[in-house]
Amino acid sequence: MKHNFGAGPGILPHEVLKQAAAAVVDFGGIGLSILEISHRSPEFESVLDEAVKLVKELLGVPEGYSVLFLQGGASMEFALVPFNLLPEGGKAAYLDSGVWASKAIKEAKFFGETEVVASSKDKNYTYIPTNYKIPEDAAYFHITSNNTIYGTQLQHFPKSPVPLVCDMSSDIFSRKINVADFGLIYAGAQKNMGPAGTTLVIVKDELLGKTGRKIPAMFNYQVQIEGGSMYNTPPVFAIYVSMLTLNWLKSKGGVAAIEQENVAKARVLYEEIDRNPLFKAVCVPEDRSHMNVCFVMENPDLEKPFLKLCDEKGIVGIKGHRSVGGFRASIYNALPITSVYVLVDAMQEFAEKNK
Ligand SMILES: *Cc1c(COP(=O)(O)O)cnc(C)c1O
Repeated sequence: MKHNFGAGPGILPHEVLKQAAAAVVDFGGIGLSILEISHRSPEFESVLDEAVKLVKELLGVPEGYSVLFLQGGASMEFALVPFNLLPEGGKAAYLDSGVWASKAIKEAKFFGETEVVASSKDKNYTYIPTNYKIPEDAAYFHITSNNTIYGTQLQHFPKSPVPLVCDMSSDIFSRKINVADFGLIYAGAQKNMGPAGTTLVIVKDELLGKTGRKIPAMFNYQVQIEGGSMYNTPPVFAIYVSMLTLNWLKSKGGVAAIEQENVAKARVLYEEIDRNPLFKAVCVPEDRSHMNVCFVMENPDLEKPFLKLCDEKGIVGIKGHRSVGGFRASIYNALPITSVYVLVDAMQEFAEKNK
């Protein structure tokens, strides 16, 4: 077995993969594959119902919110959010905390004025900007809870005078959140919830239908809500595997329990990075992510040999994003702490050899 630190699509629980594999051949003993049943069949309808129920239960989604499973990834939501929430002639506010945030800003510009309240681009996004003012006349304020590429994470969410919209692609279900603090949350499934192919959207119903704009059906949250995420054929398999993963999370004690494990995993890894003379962390300590741990070597010539050692130990996916370099260890929900210990051991062994 490998130790999968890949950033996305990321690790899934082994038991989920086994269940999914079995369902590809015979789904629940009905003699048909999950891949060949109708999305309108009672079997799939109960999968989708269960997935929605688990999202609501695990995150404590209050009344007045809808849960959608859409397609197009988080990148599609970059456009759908302003399409559905930014009125003609209106303005939206954004926090620029990384490449994903800046892509969201770029898409919003198609629909109206965008005000970037602050940016950490000046230091290659190694911190979360603070001390900004959220304009009260904005339709919404958009943030990215976890910056997957740089390894920064909002440890506290800002108090916003306007609805808060959050891209939670890489840390949803990793820690407790108060959904009522948000107007809209979205997340591509493939980091912490399931396989690529579906995108979770949780939206406060009362925010919709106010743009004065005509929206094509597939891009219209209202239409998707009315169709129960089945305006057209939904991504059946991606929703099924997400449902299994959420069930796995529930059986582990839910978000509060996994949060404790995630904090423990991050602590073990950052402690080693701070202690080990060969490595150093990329981001400012107070904004360090508990999901994507970015670090570099004091001597970049040692990076290749370290990757080779990792490879020998079955550690995969730790090469950093090309815009940061060095290493990025993604420690998503499904990664056991034992894998973190294997990485820490490799770092210690490597430091010993390169004294
Ligand atoms: C991966 C990621 C995206 C892009 O997701 P796609 O599903 O590939 O569009 C957007 N935002 C964040 C924070 C991500 O981690």
